[in-house]
Amino acid sequence: GRTDPMDIFETYESNVRSYVRDFPAVFVKAKGHTLTDENGREYIDFFAGAGALNYGHNDEGMKQALIAYLQSDGVMHSLDMATSAKGRFIQRFQDVILKPRGMTYKMMFPGPTGTNTVESALKLARKVKGREKIVSFTNAFHGMTLGSLAVTGNQFKRDGAGLPLNNTVFMPFDGYMGEGVDTLDYFEKTLEDSGSGFDLPAAVILETVQGEGGINAASMPWLKRLREICTRWDILMIVDDVQAGCGRTGTFFSFEPAGIDPDIVCLSKSLGGMGVPFAVTLVKPEYDVFGPGEHNGTFRGNNLAFVAAAEALRFWETEDLADDVREKAAVIKERFIRLRDRFPQLDGEVRGRGFMQGIALGAEGAAKEICAEAFKRGLIIETSGPSGEVVKILAPLTITRDGLAKGLDILEAAFATVAG
Ligand code: PMP
Repeated sequence: GRTDPMDIFETYESNVRSYVRDFPAVFVKAKGHTLTDENGREYIDFFAGAGALNYGHNDEGMKQALIAYLQSDGVMHSLDMATSAKGRFIQRFQDVILKPRGMTYKMMFPGPTGTNTVESALKLARKVKGREKIVSFTNAFHGMTLGSLAVTGNQFKRDGAGLPLNNTVFMPFDGYMGEGVDTLDYFEKTLEDSGSGFDLPAAVILETVQGEGGINAASMPWLKRLREICTRWDILMIVDDVQAGCGRTGTFFSFEPAGIDPDIVCLSKSLGGMGVPFAVTLVKPEYDVFGPGEHNGTFRGNNLAFVAAAEALRFWETEDLADDVREKAAVIKERFIRLRDRFPQLDGEVRGRGFMQGIALGAEGAAKEICAEAFKRGLIIETSGPSGEVVKILAPLTITRDGLAKGLDILEAAFATVAG
């Protein structure tokens, strides 16, 4: 008889596979916010490649730019040689993103992944300050190599291999101590109390909205105060905007509404436009201290990524996408509040901002069951949080209003089934 198409994954792929289990279908193509499996079944995407597809799947502009580049024999492995594709991306990022925001950052290409940009930021901060300690926050997620894993507040991902914490200290993130407690009081006290042996850190690293950690959004006053503390104590502020950046929260950088200027910014995921692996580390010019060859990597000059990324910036030449995201985000918030109120037995709490929202469910196992149920009904949606207790919406920013409404209807039906 015919074998199950999932067999090949179950038999030969490492046991570490997770999305294969959560989304048991073999996908063949995708457009905008819709994926299609090999049986021709369509799924609405509330996942967006974990935030790598803010502009949806196979955007025509990026696709055509890549095809033209391939046809011109533009592809070359240039490491960090100067190429026209790279020059164009750098220029466009200056013109479309940095200059209009009055920002001056040097741009480092650290390798293709989010983890790579975080590693470069941690290493650079330690060199700039000549100190080793890094402050991270509870429930942070920054990556899977040793430095970035050390600042990831997730014991399951870190501790099995007995990995060192590499001089990391975890402070309570905003909201971690419950409502009404400003967790920065604890950080400041710790800094003042140097007599107890707390070494001054080189940097703090944070996500303004923690994605993997459960859609925990820091407030704007909290971010402002953290910036002030860093300045006062001569500590670098690193914002990891790998997931919350590229418009996910409604502005290109997630920290814009707080009016702060991080010393180092990490970007990846949607920076590569249509899923081409790409990352940059933005560094204030005075901290651009690595010498030639001090931080290298074979894939930090991917010309295909430069081409797609340069084209993706067209979404930021006008306010249209940002306005649209803010309006659709209000719809998501409204619907999530309705879910919370309609299903009190699930003990829901609505979290997040922009297109990075979630509903944390006190009812054990409910979030995972809801996502599985939603998948059966044609919606791809994932959980996050320390025990997978948060149903997290991470739809493409470009999703149509109709697609968003349909996806939210499916989600509500899945809630109803699981709530019984
Ligand atoms: N930082 C944050 C905030 C992330 O969400 C992620 C990925 N989920 C990373 C870093 C790591 O990126 P990558 O998986 O591309 O290495």
